[in-house]
Amino acid sequence: MAAPCTDCAGAGTLTVDDGQQQYTITCAACDGTGETPTLADNENNGQAGQ
Ligand SMILES: [Zn+2]
Repeated sequence: MAAPCTDCAGAGTLTVDDGQQQYTITCAACDGTGETPTLADNENNGQAGQ
């Protein structure tokens, strides 16, 4: 089982506030899945948790 994504807390999206507007973006860390991806099949994915 994958752990909840630490970037988005399992939401799959992030809210970015640039001071004027808020944007809801897909979490790049988990690609919107809300789970921390396992790296077993992603050897080219680089360092986890970034
Ligand atoms: Zn995430």
